Amino acid sequence: METHSILKLEIEMEEQPAARCGNCGSPNIHDTRVRSAFWHQDRLVVVEDVPAIVCDACHEQFYDDSTIVVLDLLRGDGFPPEKARAEMRVPVFSFGDRLVSKSDS
Ligand SMILES: [Zn+2]
Repeated sequence: METHSILKLEIEMEEQPAARCGNCGSPNIHDTRVRSAFWHQDRLVVVEDVPAIVCDACHEQFYDDSTIVVLDLLRGDGFPPEKARAEMRVPVFSFGDRLVSKSDS
C-alpha cells in the first residue's frame, strides 16, 4: 500500500450526507474541481479538473478514495508529455535569494 500525503475525510461521503471537514470539523464543505501540482521524479506536473471536496471554513481540500486511485493511475503512467493538454512555464525562485535581499546593511 502506498502512503498518501493528502488528507482524507474521516467520514465516507456516500453514507453521511452531513459530513464534516476532517481538518476543522466544519459542516460547510462542497464538491468542486481543483487544479493540483505534483512532483513526479524531478518534473513538476499539473493535473486539472480533479474532483475535490473543499472546506469553506479552513479551505482544506480533500480527495475521495476513487479520485486518489485515478491520480495513482496517472502517476503510474508517468505523465507522458504527449498526453499533456498544455504546458506551462513555471518561475523558479531561491529561498536564499530572499534572505540576501531582505538584509538591509
Ligand atoms: Zn475545515
